Amino acid sequence: MHEYVGSLHIHTTYSDGTGTVKEIAAAAEEAGLDFIGVTDHNTLRAKREGEERFFGKTLVVVGAELNDKSNRNHYLAFGVEDTSSTRVPAAEYVRAVKEQGGIGFTAHPHEKRSSMKEHPPYPWTAWDVEDIHGIEIWNHMSEWMENLTERNKYQSFVHPLRTIVAPPNETLAKWDELARKRPTPAIGGVDAHAHKVNLLGFFTAEVFSYKVLFKSIRTHILADEPITPTRSKRGAEKAVGTALRALGKGSSFVANYYHGDARGFRFFAETGGAIVGMGDDAPIEGSAKLRAQTPGVVSELRLLRDGKEIERVEADELERDVRKPGAYRVEARLEGKAWIYSNHIRLGL
Ligand SMILES: [Zn+2]
Ligand SMILES: [Zn+2]
Repeated sequence: MHEYVGSLHIHTTYSDGTGTVKEIAAAAEEAGLDFIGVTDHNTLRAKREGEERFFGKTLVVVGAELNDKSNRNHYLAFGVEDTSSTRVPAAEYVRAVKEQGGIGFTAHPHEKRSSMKEHPPYPWTAWDVEDIHGIEIWNHMSEWMENLTERNKYQSFVHPLRTIVAPPNETLAKWDELARKRPTPAIGGVDAHAHKVNLLGFFTAEVFSYKVLFKSIRTHILADEPITPTRSKRGAEKAVGTALRALGKGSSFVANYYHGDARGFRFFAETGGAIVGMGDDAPIEGSAKLRAQTPGVVSELRLLRDGKEIERVEADELERDVRKPGAYRVEARLEGKAWIYSNHIRLGL
């Protein structure tokens, strides 16, 4: 397995972001990111303009953020050639993504915003849609907005990474519920726009540069093939395919880089003589051994089955034999702060 680190859910000047793909890719390369996922609102223009490629060492993958006519049910679609009309219901564009062989993630599904009337929440409400591929479990911008109060707003603007605590419990619960029924890969997103926001009516602040957000929530993939920077078009297409295969399967985990570099985190199961990893489904032959490890960092590691904690250690690894079927995942906390969220390993389901 080859680990690559990326930042997903980024808006550019093709919709309501303030940076061009080239500028954003340069910031991502500087931040050491292997890939970024650009998702402008209802447009794949970046792809049509030939910007789905490597910029230096960083691969730009182009998707789109789709929404319905009431501007709800935002869906981060990748691996598609067409965006749907914004007049159709979520069920239709979710199905269209699937039919094109693409993947999609419900964006900021439990968003609640009350701090700024001009920025209302855009939650996911269409949970009865069967073809939902996966979920964005953690969204920097949503959480930052939600945590904004009269009292902390200066601090929030000055230290945009500090107010990020953890994904919403509601989202984690929904994710576990769906994962029990069917594979439901998760990603983390930054929802970067680098917007200029008028604060208090008398000064304008940039909320906040792409560069700063690239130090926040990241999605690490464990790819089945190496992703090697190249100038060739075919090479870039192949790299995009490799990244999307890992994201689409959930061979990945989400981490907040602000609390520590999670590169090297692993979670796998030994069952029936085979080793399976995140995003895999496997039978339980009697029992399975689950193992998680952080990159040599002692953290609070929790093992959950169908959303319920079954083991907790303060260490750099966790090991546990299990017999019950379920969707298993791991969370790591560092000094009380949410750090890593693994994708599920589904056993015996
Ligand atoms: Zn959105
Ligand atoms: Zn967005």
